[in-house]
Amino acid sequence: MTRPNRPIYLDNHATTPLDPRVLAAMRPWWEENFANPHSVEHAMGREAEAAVETARGHVSELIGASASEIILTSGATEANNLAIKGAARFAAGQGSERRRIITVATEHKCVLESVRDLAAEGFEPVVLPVRPDGLLDLDVLRHALEVPTLLVSVMAVNNEIGVVQDLAAIGALVKAAGALFHSDAAQGCGRIPLDVEELRLDLLSISGHKIYGPKGIGALYVRRRPRVRLAPLFSGGGQERGLRSGTLATPLIVGFGEAARIAGIEGLLDAGRIAGQREVFLTRLRAEVPGIRVNASQEHRVAGNTNLTFPGGVDAQALMAAAPEVCVSTGSACSSAAVEPSYVLAAIGLPEAEARSTLRVGIGRFTSPAEAEQGAALLAAAWQRLVEQD
Ligand SMILES: *Cc1c(COP(=O)(O)O)cnc(C)c1O
Repeated sequence: MTRPNRPIYLDNHATTPLDPRVLAAMRPWWEENFANPHSVEHAMGREAEAAVETARGHVSELIGASASEIILTSGATEANNLAIKGAARFAAGQGSERRRIITVATEHKCVLESVRDLAAEGFEPVVLPVRPDGLLDLDVLRHALEVPTLLVSVMAVNNEIGVVQDLAAIGALVKAAGALFHSDAAQGCGRIPLDVEELRLDLLSISGHKIYGPKGIGALYVRRRPRVRLAPLFSGGGQERGLRSGTLATPLIVGFGEAARIAGIEGLLDAGRIAGQREVFLTRLRAEVPGIRVNASQEHRVAGNTNLTFPGGVDAQALMAAAPEVCVSTGSACSSAAVEPSYVLAAIGLPEAEARSTLRVGIGRFTSPAEAEQGAALLAAAWQRLVEQD
């Protein structure tokens, strides 16, 4: 995977590279069999359908589900919308009195906005704060659940600060309160063990391109026993048990399945190796940038994430511009004019000035020790130059 003069890619939260084995698995479904997997009247269609079902099996196995509980979507954004809006609308349609939908301030925008959008339909969005370590305080959740609640959505792993929520403890509280439990596991799947039975999840969202699979594909796990019912977002031909109409994207699904299969076998091995590269990266950076700080929980986190506040008031945008060979990111949302500091960093109590000096570094399956070392050296040198300019 290494090419000379290729930028050093340390942005594996935004997306991961396609694993070459995934590309190999996808190729025949682009080049040879293009049939519609719903065309079961002919051999090519049936072959495509079989490939889709094999892939669905791999995705389900990664999370301890059965294949019939996997609804294929265009990604985690769609899965999160379907889970949250679908569950709320179905329950309301059945005459449920429960209106409260609870989520957390550090969720991905697509979760926060789905929950907030439901206010217009008469639901009661509740966005809970997190502690300075990025974790949800269980007492805060317990208190919020005193009002009858329809759904609780808490992410498995945060995409900016990498913290791992205690889904087992959260799930126990949510189920005791009789609410549905959803998790956005786009950053969790394939990185930490996730079992829908152990965690008592009713709904779980996954994204293909965060697990070294293709972009534009993902899944929503929907529990069958006891059955969780959703209102679909799309009207159409009734594919995916009526929950997601539209022709299935066979090549993307085959790639997603292969990525899930590999994650199931190699995810924990990856984590061990990635933790080693992160150590290499941080050791070098700490030696050259005294006072650099790693944000949020140091224990409850995934191996690849490092959210770093640089000292000396250096601007993160300027730092990235001064180290163009390294691909990293801020959690900031760039609107047309201003760069808004990350709401996730605000939620863990980082002052705005510090948030503006903060970078997210994501090490992944294909990051070599040399890249980790060189990435740190380049960022440190850029920081040094900016500090000296002042
Ligand atoms: C990437 C990501 C998403 C969106 O996934 P897509 O498949 O790109 O729609 C949602 N939530 C989290 C936590 C993510 O990291």
